[in-house]
Amino acid sequence: MSNKLFLLPGDGIGTEIMAEVTRLIAHLNASGKTDFSTETGLVGGCAYDAHGEAISDTDMAKALQADAVIFGAVGGAKWDDVPYEKRPEAGLLRLRKDLQLFANLRPAIVYPALADASSLKRELVEGLDILIVRELTGGVYFGEPKEIAELGTTEHGENQKRAVDTQVYETYEIDRICRVAFDLARTRSSVVHSADKKNVMKSGVLWDEVAHQVAGEYGDVKFEHILADNAAMQLVRNPKQFDVIVTDNLFGDILSDAAAMLTGSLGMLPSASLGAPDPATGKRKALYEPVHGSAPDIAGKGLANPIAMIASFAMAMRYSFNRTELADEIESAIAGVLEDGLRTGDIMQEGCKQVSTEEMGAAIMARIS
Ligand code: NAD
Repeated sequence: MSNKLFLLPGDGIGTEIMAEVTRLIAHLNASGKTDFSTETGLVGGCAYDAHGEAISDTDMAKALQADAVIFGAVGGAKWDDVPYEKRPEAGLLRLRKDLQLFANLRPAIVYPALADASSLKRELVEGLDILIVRELTGGVYFGEPKEIAELGTTEHGENQKRAVDTQVYETYEIDRICRVAFDLARTRSSVVHSADKKNVMKSGVLWDEVAHQVAGEYGDVKFEHILADNAAMQLVRNPKQFDVIVTDNLFGDILSDAAAMLTGSLGMLPSASLGAPDPATGKRKALYEPVHGSAPDIAGKGLANPIAMIASFAMAMRYSFNRTELADEIESAIAGVLEDGLRTGDIMQEGCKQVSTEEMGAAIMARIS
């Protein structure tokens, strides 16, 4: 039986970068390397225009049945005034929620050819390859109570309010995200740093306790605790000391963006979001997407960098289909075209050749036998 990919290009440059993945899939299928069947759906603003929802129930059902969802980007000024629960991002949030994608994987890889585009010195980032594993469905973004309460008026006539967010984690949530991190570390350099604020937060104390318990089952993986603020500092001081960093939703949001900027450009950054393994098949629900948005400022001009999208597809090969050799081949093809001096506008450097979205996609494909 062929493997099912559900493609959701979305809005803006989403459709342009997904076109390059579609061509790559056809090329891989034709060469006999893969046997993917694909279906394409609507998400974001284009889904709102067609169905009045950021994703229809029909497309949601297809996402649930697919072996992996490949997602482009959503959003644009056209949909700025649609009701809050129907805004383009609501489609992505529903996918994350219904697929129960609790583990967000954000690699930060510095290709040698782009080391000078980093905000840090070449010697600090050249060859960098770290993976941030962020808990995505719990913590302070979702904890209750979450409110702004009116406290009344002071004797000086000032209106007072109190805002509350709740940072909350249960053992199972920490346990399962740590297991993802340790399993992934085994396929890499076998080092896990767990980042929390156990010095000032009870949720950090439990996080660290559970992380240590899980670490005890992975004797072959080196485990280190790090305070989240120190992790931020170390990421810009000496990022190559890290392999895998596992952390909660809030710290992961911040640390993964800091790590991302070490690599230079938004157009280069892939991501994966994974759910729990299916008890019957062992397969995880999964969604792969570039970190960037729909880039309305360059949409429709052939200027978008398709590398983050193609690298997200490579992550699907690695994490959903266990095709490590194919993921390596796609990633080497990306490194190769960069070595050849091909650049889209966002990563253009002196002495390089500027190419379009399609030319970049074609050059990467041509390197895959
Ligand atoms: P953005 O990531 O779309 O763009 C930021 C800047 O980076 C722009 O100048 C853009 O041209 C550039 N850029 C981004 N991706 C690029 C690529 N692949 N190649 C070349 N240049 C690229 O962020 P934004 O401008 O803040 O948001 C635009 C829209 O995207 C908004 O509607 C926002 O809500 C949405 N958004 C969606 C997602 C998502 O779908 N996951 C994520 C972020 C933002």
